Amino acid sequence: QRIARLRENVEAPPAAPSAELSLVRYIESSVNTALAAGEFTLHLQPKLRLKDNRLIGAEALLRWNSAAHGPLSPALFIPILERSGLTARVSDWVLQETARLVQVLGSAGIELPVAFNASAADLRGDFSERVRQALERHALGPQRVEVEVTETSVIGDCGSAAAALASLRALGIAVSVDDFGTGYSTLAYLRAFPLDVLKIDRSFITGLTDNPVDRQIVDSVITLARALGLHTVAEGVETEQQLEALRALGCDSVQGYLIARPLPIEAFIAFVRGWTP
Ligand code: C2E
Ligand code: MG
Ligand code: MG
Ligand code: MG
Repeated sequence: QRIARLRENVEAPPAAPSAELSLVRYIESSVNTALAAGEFTLHLQPKLRLKDNRLIGAEALLRWNSAAHGPLSPALFIPILERSGLTARVSDWVLQETARLVQVLGSAGIELPVAFNASAADLRGDFSERVRQALERHALGPQRVEVEVTETSVIGDCGSAAAALASLRALGIAVSVDDFGTGYSTLAYLRAFPLDVLKIDRSFITGLTDNPVDRQIVDSVITLARALGLHTVAEGVETEQQLEALRALGCDSVQGYLIARPLPIEAFIAFVRGWTP
C-alpha cells in the first residue's frame, strides 16, 4: 500500500500550472522551426568606456519573436533550452549571426567588437574551432568578437571549459565572466581560468548608490579585477548617479539603459554615428 502511494506521488502531474508547462513544451518543440522561420534576431547593446566616454564594443542579446506567443525573453527560454540540452542549434545561429552583424558594422565603418553569450554546453567539444571558422567565413580578425560566459557555466565543468577558454584566448579572442558575483563559486577559478573581463552583475549596481554593502562589494570587485589585470564592465547601469559612483570607484566600462537599450542593428548603427564622447 505504501509503495502504491509512493508510486502515485511519483506519477502525479508536476505542480507547475499547465499554462507554464505548455510554454516549456512549446519552447522545446518549436525552437528549431522558429530558427528556420526567422523568429530569432540579435540586438546590440553598446559598452561605454568611462575614462574617455568612448564606445568600446557591444553585446549581442538574443530576441525570439514567436508567432504563437509574441516576444519571449532569453532569461526564460535559454535556461529551458539549457536544461533540455537543446542549445546547440541556437548557439550556432548566434555565433554565425554575430559574425554577420560584425561584418555589417564593418561595412558601415564601425569597427567595434561584439560579444556574444555562450552556454555551458557550448564550451564542450570544438567551440574555439567553430568560432575560428565563423571568423574565417566572414573574413574577421579575432579582436572583432568576444565571448561572455557565466561563472557557473565554467565552474561546473572545469577541465573542458578551461581548455575551451584557453584555446579561444590563444586565437586572440577576449573572454568575459558574466554576472560576476552571483554564481555559487569560489574565487579560485580566477586563477585557473584564462580571462580578460569581469562583468559586475546588475544586482550589485542596482543598490550601488544607496546600499553601503553593495557599494563595498562593487569596490572590492573592482580592486580585485585590477590586481588580476582584468577589465571591469558594470551591467545594468540605469542612472547618472550609478555611472558617477562607478567612475569614482575606478570601474573601466559600463553598459545599461542609461547609455542605450539593446537595439536592432540599424538603430545601433544610428546610435553609434550619433555618439559624441
Ligand atoms: P546577460 O548576458 O547578463 O545580459 C544582460 C541582460 O540585462 C540583458 O537581458 C539586457 O537586456 C539586460 N539589461 C541591459 N541593461 C539593462 C539595464 O540598464 N537595466 C535592466 N533592468 N536590464 C538591463 P536579456 O537580453 O533579457 O538577456 C537575459 C540573459 O539571457 C542574458 O543575461 C544572458 O544570460 C542570456 N542570453 C541572452 N542572449 C543570449 C544568447 O545569445 N545566448 C545565450 N546562451 N544566452 C543569452
Ligand atoms: Mg552577457
Ligand atoms: Mg551579464
Ligand atoms: Mg546579468
